[in-house]
Amino acid sequence: MSLKDASVAAGTTIAAIMQRAPVAQLEARILLGHVTQLSRVQLITQSERALTADEAQQLSQLFVRRLAGEPIAYLTGEREFFGLSFKVSPAVLIPRPDTELLVELAIQHLPPQGRALDMGTGSGAIAIALVHARPDAGITALDVSAEALVIATDNASKNHVQVEFLRSDWFSAVNTQHFDLIVSNPPYIVQGDPHLSEGDLRFEPVDALTDHGNGLSDLHTITSGARQYLASGAWLLMEHGYDQAAAVREMLSAHGYAEVQSWRDLAGIERVSGGRYDAA
Ligand code: GLN
Repeated sequence: MSLKDASVAAGTTIAAIMQRAPVAQLEARILLGHVTQLSRVQLITQSERALTADEAQQLSQLFVRRLAGEPIAYLTGEREFFGLSFKVSPAVLIPRPDTELLVELAIQHLPPQGRALDMGTGSGAIAIALVHARPDAGITALDVSAEALVIATDNASKNHVQVEFLRSDWFSAVNTQHFDLIVSNPPYIVQGDPHLSEGDLRFEPVDALTDHGNGLSDLHTITSGARQYLASGAWLLMEHGYDQAAAVREMLSAHGYAEVQSWRDLAGIERVSGGRYDAA
């Protein structure tokens, strides 16, 4: 097996594959684990185990797809987020570690027994992580994509939590008034941003990444619409791009939100902004 040659012969041992894998070691280990159903430890303790013909063929195909750039999470069909396991497919964005900040803030800003709304839920990662950490909460999660909602529904049952799912283009199908928290990680990449045609993003649903505009239009739709659906004193929290915090704070202030502020992610980047809706 060379860099260009991704084919794995039946009978090749795990150790031999690891030595000559055409992808990074960490990735080879994940794909081997996926195909053999062995844990990381078992891959080491059973490194002399030979792959069956079926496993070898599956692994070859995964190497080929990885070499073509497909994200590892789509190859294995799962990704860990906030300590939970989520099923993913190209119909949903792959949950990012950056987004754990939004979940942490949501946990802190949702009052006891509060009802929360997650807008543009995708795989359901935010809503499910929130209600998993806060079983006292009630949560509604919406998405415009029916395909995404199928995955999100699966993820809720996989993680043993109750979420009310709603197919809705932003607020169009929302009936419940007065949520105690609204959270969203909407599409916020500027149309034509070169990142959209690089790396993993090429394989992700484009409508989940960009608003096909200046990057702020969905953030604006949520900011202006949420006032009608928030209980007095409730928070709106939104994830946004690395250079959008000032614009989002300005937007929140212009719409009358109080205590407008931004929070930094682990990389020190202002990643989430929010404000409190005060009806008075
Ligand atoms: N954080 C993602 C990225 O930059 C974008 C997610 C989004 O648009 N909501 O890859």
